[in-house]
Amino acid sequence: MASTLGSTPDFNKILYTPLAEADPEVQNIIDKETWRQFSGLELIASENLTSLATMQANGSILTNKYSEGLPDHRYYGGNEWIDELEVLCRKRALQAFHLDPAKWGVNVQPYSGSTANFAALTALLQPQDRLMGLGLPDGGHLTHGYYTAKKKMTASSIYFQSLPYSIDHSNQLIDYKGLATQARIFKPRLIICGASAYPRDWDYAELRKTADEHGAFLMADIAHTSGLVAAGELADPFQYCDVVTTTTHKTLRGPRAGLIFFRKDSKYADDLEKRVNDAVFPACQGGPHNNTIAGIATALHQACQPEWKAYAKQVIKNAQALAETLVAKDYKLQTNGTDNHLVLWDLRPLKLTGSKLEKLCDLVGITINKNAVAGDTSAQVPGGIRLGTSALTSRNMLEDDIKQVGEFLNRAVQIALVLQKEAGSKLLKDFVRVATQGGEGLEGYKQVKELKKEVQEFARKWPLPGVDVSDLKRPAGISEDD
Ligand code: PLP
Repeated sequence: MASTLGSTPDFNKILYTPLAEADPEVQNIIDKETWRQFSGLELIASENLTSLATMQANGSILTNKYSEGLPDHRYYGGNEWIDELEVLCRKRALQAFHLDPAKWGVNVQPYSGSTANFAALTALLQPQDRLMGLGLPDGGHLTHGYYTAKKKMTASSIYFQSLPYSIDHSNQLIDYKGLATQARIFKPRLIICGASAYPRDWDYAELRKTADEHGAFLMADIAHTSGLVAAGELADPFQYCDVVTTTTHKTLRGPRAGLIFFRKDSKYADDLEKRVNDAVFPACQGGPHNNTIAGIATALHQACQPEWKAYAKQVIKNAQALAETLVAKDYKLQTNGTDNHLVLWDLRPLKLTGSKLEKLCDLVGITINKNAVAGDTSAQVPGGIRLGTSALTSRNMLEDDIKQVGEFLNRAVQIALVLQKEAGSKLLKDFVRVATQGGEGLEGYKQVKELKKEVQEFARKWPLPGVDVSDLKRPAGISEDD
């Protein structure tokens, strides 16, 4: 019986063929995306650049294995190494957040932040129970109970009754008093804190007081800030919360997934461990993605090292340097600055929309996203943009480099104002037309080209984690000026 590669039947030969040969189309898309990440400035606050080691773990053979259940209690055989991996990942998760295993446990199986949140709600609440989360237009996340006048938008408002709290529009800080007052009427079973677009830290002690007044659970979703919390650079939600959820791919710099931490000694339930584990599987998910769990374990290992604190400190210093650069140019930032990795820029005084600046930045290789700012009247036309420094810090940039990025953003705004004038209408499509096609006697188009060239030259001076950039070539399908 032959057992060498020579005996591989034709139908299996593809199993040993590298991607570039097996599927050049997908390889080319990966190459183009690599080129884009190398040539541009990544300022999306919810993104980061994970490590080579994490990508290797995430792309590993562990993707082959089914392991429904928990270590030592699986519905499939062959899980001895997968059990070792999941136990290691859980240990590192508790270690990264300085948690006592006698008081806290963690489920590392959620596929993403949204599924982690829905599993957490499933664990804590009965259908139609009441929850309160920060409203989406005030910086909260969809999965914290968001709904509109016409539609319940996510499972968190479809299956539960939700009442959002808000920021105080006079200072754009969380309105803890307003929340307490609303809670006295609404009587929530759960209060959710944490946000997708809030540049300041949280007062968890104040939230705990309000939750206790109603015997409610307190849950923090620290998806955005978990890397900074692990480093001890932001307030510690674990001191006050019953459950803490997070994504693993934002400031924590791991693969795309979620974690749910649960308190073993919550005063409102002594069975949170079972509730959370049962909610993840079988209530909300199937088999865990073991390759991703390996990537999480690797990322958490990095977050346990002394260098992690230095990285987290630099992310914050960079966000503050970016804020100072913009404020020095008289631009308006929500709360006038930041405590964390993100800056919320209110463009309304400039009579510019978030959509236009996002589009213009895309054209010059700066990746940002439009975002609602306090007082926006239309969710369809957000008045600001959100900027984050996690990814650029992962490319080694320090404060002076970030100030240069602030200068590029300033130029982008000035060009957007020129284009808006040249477009002769308020419509985004006219703005895009003059930005991409120009026209007789129009200046904005030329300025877009110039800025794009400068941004590319600047961006390509920096390394890209997981990629040997010295060997990087412009892939097929990317034009000379991209
Ligand atoms: N929670 C918060 C606060 C977030 O900002 C996000 C995503 O941006 C999520 C949850 C959802 O995470 P995912 O996209 O992994 O489902």
